[in-house]
Amino acid sequence: MLLTRSLPKVGNAIKRILVRCPQTGKLTDTGRTVEEASFPTTRLTNNKMTCQHCGQVHSWTKKDVVLAR
Ligand SMILES: [Zn+2]
Repeated sequence: MLLTRSLPKVGNAIKRILVRCPQTGKLTDTGRTVEEASFPTTRLTNNKMTCQHCGQVHSWTKKDVVLAR
């Protein structure tokens, strides 16, 4: 064993759901999380969040989502 790496367990990674603010173009944490493996089948519709960057409430859908570690 030359290298010891802690590999993430596939299918068990919890990702934070980020959405890009339409006003500032910055990524905003929605406060929600999702399992990466189940994300493709997870329904995310009609969601709203209060934006950290501009203070407005944004609606977002699954296609707006950026997953973060
Ligand atoms: Zn915003």
